[in-house]
Amino acid sequence: MKPPAFDYLAPGSLDEAVSALADGDAKIIAGGQSLMPMLNFRLLAPSLLVDITRIPGLDYIEDWDGGLRIGALSTHHALETSTMVAERFPVLAAAMRHVAHLAIRNRGTIGGSLCHGDPAAELPGLVLLLDGQLKTTQRVIPASVFYDGALSTTLGTDEILTEIMLPPPAAGTGWGFEEFARRSGDFALTAVAATIGEEARIVAMGANDIPLRLTGAEALFADLTSIEAVADAARAAVSPDSDLHASADYRRHLVGVLTKRALTAACARSS
Ligand SMILES: Cc1cc2nc3c(=O)[nH]c(=O)nc-3n(C[C@H](O)[C@H](O)[C@H](O)COP(=O)(O)OP(=O)(O)OC[C@H]3O[C@@H](n4cnc5c(N)ncnc54)[C@H](O)[C@@H]3O)c2cc1C
Repeated sequence: MKPPAFDYLAPGSLDEAVSALADGDAKIIAGGQSLMPMLNFRLLAPSLLVDITRIPGLDYIEDWDGGLRIGALSTHHALETSTMVAERFPVLAAAMRHVAHLAIRNRGTIGGSLCHGDPAAELPGLVLLLDGQLKTTQRVIPASVFYDGALSTTLGTDEILTEIMLPPPAAGTGWGFEEFARRSGDFALTAVAATIGEEARIVAMGANDIPLRLTGAEALFADLTSIEAVADAARAAVSPDSDLHASADYRRHLVGVLTKRALTAACARSS
């Protein structure tokens, strides 16, 4: 299918882009890997596309006191191959390899992935796991309150995500990332990521309409409860949907299995 007609603007600055978004019927386009399918399926019909890829200074991965500041136009592939990401947040580098196919990872941006907000996407869950903050043209938003539903963020219509801020990890943090998809490159049926540092953090993706921190399972893990009990708590916390790819029961079962695997890997990697 072809997209509906739209006007196109490629501003050279964030100010110009924010002004262009002011009428409320415009959409930002970055890599286009999620937006173009939405247009082609006529799920969206904006009158104007504001292409932010010509705006300088939004594509970087930089030190932030031992953590990282990552520009919104950085691609999935840039994160996947960055030495700094691999050293400081190996769980993030590992998760990026599960996003779609290389051609899509080469064009798709982290800002686009976060703002699209697919419930099964890896990056929204990883930013929650890593206690990230999302900087926009107007404010800084904790990852924990960035989403208010599937494909829905708390961003205003004229607000542009500019940067992801990841605080430094505790020394010796172990990590695990486990995903189950029908074929390599498909969206996950579900995925679970875990870190064990000063505290244990566990996040499930594709198991609710937004990424979910499994705080009950984290607490049981901290109390040295059996891994089976932790997995039971993880299963009980999620509310997946059934669709043509998998039933809700199967997804819930997967959350338990993947939680055990992610925690086991994180324990083995922690020091
Ligand atoms: C075949 C296929 C398989 C895929 N598999 C996966 C997968 O396994 N995992 C996964 O996570 N994703 C997957 N995707 C989705 C896609 O890879 C990501 O959502 C994509 O990388 C989004 O980035 P983009 O730059 O292309 O965003 P775009 O498509 O340009 O934009 C996406 C949305 O974000 C908004 N937006 C973009 N940038 C900003 C910004 N800076 N500030 C505010 N709003 C913004 C746009 O208005 C739009 O609503 C897949 C896509 C395809 C086509």
